[in-house]
Amino acid sequence: MSVLGLGAMGGVLAAAAVRDGYETTVWNRSAGRAQALVAEGAVAAPTAGEAIRGSQIVVVCLLDHASVHEVLDPLVGDLAGRTLLNVTTTSPAEARELAAWAAASGVEYLDGGILAVPAMIGQPGSTILCSGSAAAFGRCAPLLDRWGKSTYFGEDAGLASLYDLALLASMYVMFAGFLHGAAMVAPAGVSAREFAGMAAPWLTAMTGGFDGFAAVIDGKDYTVAGQQSLEFSDLSHIVSASAEQGISTEVIDMVQRLVRRQIDLGHGSDGFARIIESIKAPA
Ligand code: NDP
Repeated sequence: MSVLGLGAMGGVLAAAAVRDGYETTVWNRSAGRAQALVAEGAVAAPTAGEAIRGSQIVVVCLLDHASVHEVLDPLVGDLAGRTLLNVTTTSPAEARELAAWAAASGVEYLDGGILAVPAMIGQPGSTILCSGSAAAFGRCAPLLDRWGKSTYFGEDAGLASLYDLALLASMYVMFAGFLHGAAMVAPAGVSAREFAGMAAPWLTAMTGGFDGFAAVIDGKDYTVAGQQSLEFSDLSHIVSASAEQGISTEVIDMVQRLVRRQIDLGHGSDGFARIIESIKAPA
């Protein structure tokens, strides 16, 4: 296999493949990044074209969608008949565009979203989300599973990216929530480290609620008994306590607005999961 792009992520992917005994050809735009990999057993190709022509599976890990086209457009003839595994982060629309571009030239395209930082590659907790050509997934699965747990979502090449970005959206909002809490207690002399020690087990325990929310949402009935109601979830007291601490209320205001919109629509006695309706239908 060949790896094009030996940045922080591509370099680690290539190193893992070499360690696992794959014949690995590598290429990077700037010279020098291949040296350590060559010492471990990789072959450095002087051009991207030579890297592509040397392998049936071509892995691309570049900066973004534009750089993928910049490198591959002039070489599409060389890619024909090969499997292109693109683990560069793209939007769903960009992944679909690349899949159509590849299909038009007889290239089997698989889009991959890496849910890991470089240090996690090959370790438990690393996940590679995939969509696109089923045949390409079949061919790449053994390699992907060395990097992380691979999951295939189907022929729509945009789905891996969609899941990737949705999971990252969940993560960033959770991080912002933690940071809001840390900012709230800071004026009381509580260090962020001390707060993290409280927040991590609390938030971990709270993820146990996802299944219940999911059952209500998929069941399309927000009145199911036993849920915390939206009225009970009014966050005014948290907003005012945040303001009293002299901090921004933007993070908590955002959740409060989603709650309020459903209460104002007359759904105050429904469960908290109903705020997904506020999210699905922008105000
Ligand atoms: P880096 O910035 O470390 O590396 C970027 C790579 O892209 C380098 O090899 C760089 O080459 C190359 N590149 C950039 N522009 C061009 C271009 N126009 N033509 C040719 N090569 C180009 O990024 P990462 O390795 O961290 O990330 C790579 C991809 O992996 C990104 O899409 C990122 O979102 C994704 N990813 C990264 C994660 C991470 O934690 N690092 C996690 C999950 C996904 P050069 O050395 O010449 O500059």
